[in-house]
Amino acid sequence: MSVKVVKFGGSSLADANQIKKAAEIIKADPERRFVVPSAPGKRFPEDVKVTDMLYTCYEKASLRQNFDKDFEKIKQRYQEIISGLGMQFSLEKEFAEIQEQLATSGREYAASRGEFLNGKIIAEYLGFTFIDAAEVIVFDDEGMMLRKETRAKLRERLKGIHAAVIPGFYGKSLSGVVRTFSRGGSDVTGSLVARALHASVYENWTDVSGVLVADPRVVENPVVIPVITYKELRELSYMGFSVLHEDAIFPVRTVGIPINIRNTNKPEDAGTLIIADNDAEETSLRTITGIAGKKGFYAINMEKAMMNSEVGFVRDVLNVFADMGILVEHMPSGIDTLSIIADAEAIRGKEEQLLSALRKAVNPDVLELEPDIALLAVVGRGMRKTRGTAARIFASLAHARINVKMIDQGSSELNVIVGVNGHDLHQAIRCIYDAFVSSTLV
Ligand code: ASP
Repeated sequence: MSVKVVKFGGSSLADANQIKKAAEIIKADPERRFVVPSAPGKRFPEDVKVTDMLYTCYEKASLRQNFDKDFEKIKQRYQEIISGLGMQFSLEKEFAEIQEQLATSGREYAASRGEFLNGKIIAEYLGFTFIDAAEVIVFDDEGMMLRKETRAKLRERLKGIHAAVIPGFYGKSLSGVVRTFSRGGSDVTGSLVARALHASVYENWTDVSGVLVADPRVVENPVVIPVITYKELRELSYMGFSVLHEDAIFPVRTVGIPINIRNTNKPEDAGTLIIADNDAEETSLRTITGIAGKKGFYAINMEKAMMNSEVGFVRDVLNVFADMGILVEHMPSGIDTLSIIADAEAIRGKEEQLLSALRKAVNPDVLELEPDIALLAVVGRGMRKTRGTAARIFASLAHARINVKMIDQGSSELNVIVGVNGHDLHQAIRCIYDAFVSSTLV
């Protein structure tokens, strides 16, 4: 029987009611046998996530301040969940142990208890085996997860187990210390479990019905992307789409397990399916899969007569950036012109130093620094087989009177990156959305 690994985020498990919804989803499909829960998240916008409450307790404990009241609040949240689920189940023993160890077992141990306790409750509620992630997710002593060791432990421990709950976010180091991934890391645990079990799909249940074509704060009611490839997602994530923890992609991507982003509050929605690049033929509905944008770049523009015949010019320019530790994001060029696009934060305060180093290194005829550049990525595997996409992008920008500062098309023909003034970014996203998406909606 094939297996589906289901990971539920904090908002999907924030209280008893949400956990009931998650349990219904799990029970609705007998293949949903391995569950990776987050800690209880926010129930309402001003609420505090249990993970954050645990960090607060740890801060106080490590300063030898009294944290009883804060810990009491955490206990209360779990008690409410237990009674809301109508269970006869006690976590008193676990609470006492955590309270005792909180100051001495480290910050990551403290944070991990949110998932640990939630996992205990959910396993009991579902009647599934509880498997402590400390037994199966292996870290080195620097806090890096060890892939091979983790896969081996997971396979060994999960052998013969029909259904289990494995809390997300944490594991244990080789020397026995509890370690966590960075924030949002339960996504990574889910991916590792899916990989170890050769799952048919990794379902990631959250509070949105999938990945949207554009940021809903910019475009009103954007449509959901039904199918996206890992590569496309990477392009969009780089430009600010936040869908999954970055490290959650790799384990499943390498073996081609699809990820399905689903909405716990609307399980009837199909969500977004993230698939391997070569499985994506003919699956694109539209030329464009997503549009993302990011502000906060500088453009450093250089012009020099006969630049094209000066050997080493680009290398010398790049050396200046490398020596100053500035990451180069894009480098559009002409015959006698070269622009470097870099993160404004990395340059701020060092503008003069950078310009004089460039003057010294390559002695350009013109050298200027243009602040407030935004980059816009138009991403879509459908572009490869559609002619005239670039023309449509630029026609729609021209129509909206948006000045294009830079154009960069990746060789994969998967994306077109356009530089515009920061204040034009939102308008640019909206007009491209209208041209490619709104026009296809009936
Ligand atoms: N509970 C952790 C956090 O809040 C991990 C997770 O939810 O994925 O970041």
